[in-house]
Amino acid sequence: MKSLIPEGTVKFNKRCSSVEQHGSKMVVSFTDGDVIEVDGVIGCDGIKGITRRMVLGERYPEEVKSKYAHTYVYRGIAPMEDAKRVCGTYAEDARWWMMKGKGWAMYPISRGTEANIVAFMQDTDEWKGEQAAREVEREEMEAEFVDFDKRLKGLLPWVKPMKWPLFHHPDTPTYYNGRLCLLGDSAHASSPSQAAGAGQGLEDALILSKVLGLVSDPCQVDAAFQVYDAIRRPRAQAVVRESYEVGTAYYLVHPDFGDDLQKITDEANNRLPKIWWYDLEGDVKKAEESFGELTR
Ligand SMILES: Cc1cc2nc3c(=O)[nH]c(=O)nc-3n(C[C@H](O)[C@H](O)[C@H](O)COP(=O)(O)OP(=O)(O)OC[C@H]3O[C@@H](n4cnc5c(N)ncnc54)[C@H](O)[C@@H]3O)c2cc1C
Repeated sequence: MKSLIPEGTVKFNKRCSSVEQHGSKMVVSFTDGDVIEVDGVIGCDGIKGITRRMVLGERYPEEVKSKYAHTYVYRGIAPMEDAKRVCGTYAEDARWWMMKGKGWAMYPISRGTEANIVAFMQDTDEWKGEQAAREVEREEMEAEFVDFDKRLKGLLPWVKPMKWPLFHHPDTPTYYNGRLCLLGDSAHASSPSQAAGAGQGLEDALILSKVLGLVSDPCQVDAAFQVYDAIRRPRAQAVVRESYEVGTAYYLVHPDFGDDLQKITDEANNRLPKIWWYDLEGDVKKAEESFGELTR
């Protein structure tokens, strides 16, 4: 990807320590001592990044920190040969196994030489302590799988006894503050039930790049961010909230569907195309028109 970007435009191995607005300029400081002055900043520094606080901290302090999505996962990678020995041909395809309050996702990675395992545990408690993976005793982990199919249990030796909590940003009241805006997980980190988090970040990038491409004077950057926020935030936040809600369907505990697989399938077949086949070109057009009206 680097080769697609003009030489000298991208700098790696830098850590941003602060972003401040000084008049119409943004001053960005880095931990290596570098300080740069720019017309606008896009904070795509993920769920634990620093830019979210800079956008929301003063106006919406309660929305700065991500919230626990009441799920933690155990993860592992098994050699495909072993996964096939235990699960047969199921290992060669992307699969989701469901149990009450639990789920097991498995799919081939590394050009089919390994199987990625993510086992989901619904958690009605709050996550205590740091927002980070926590090591547990192997016996404690295995006890959570006691009623799983024995083939899946056969893969537990490759699963790490680490609880990875899932956090999200269900409410983000704005994606920008002056000349600083958020993109990707810093704006709308999502629980993964719809496998749509990264896709939403790419949609952000599409709209923002199109509208920034229309900026002919630095004073229009504010308008570009305003348009981006108006177009992207409703859709991306809806995906975050929906992902959380439908997660329970995949754990067979959704109040409307319970363990009725037909209802769960019908609902998914109705909902997911709205993410996959959404009219992005329509949003680009809307963004360009709104920007034109705001800067006329
Ligand atoms: C278990 C799980 C499964 C998922 N499955 C899917 C899926 O199937 N499909 C899908 O579309 N999405 C999925 N997602 C979501 C997806 O991983 C995220 O939405 C996506 O990675 C977010 O990309 P991002 O670039 O916004 O943030 P990140 O990937 O978090 O990248 C942020 C980057 O910013 C850097 N950074 C942070 N702070 C600073 C700083 N101060 N200075 C410089 N750099 C900084 C970080 O080091 C990092 O490299 C899943 C997420 C989880 C947790």
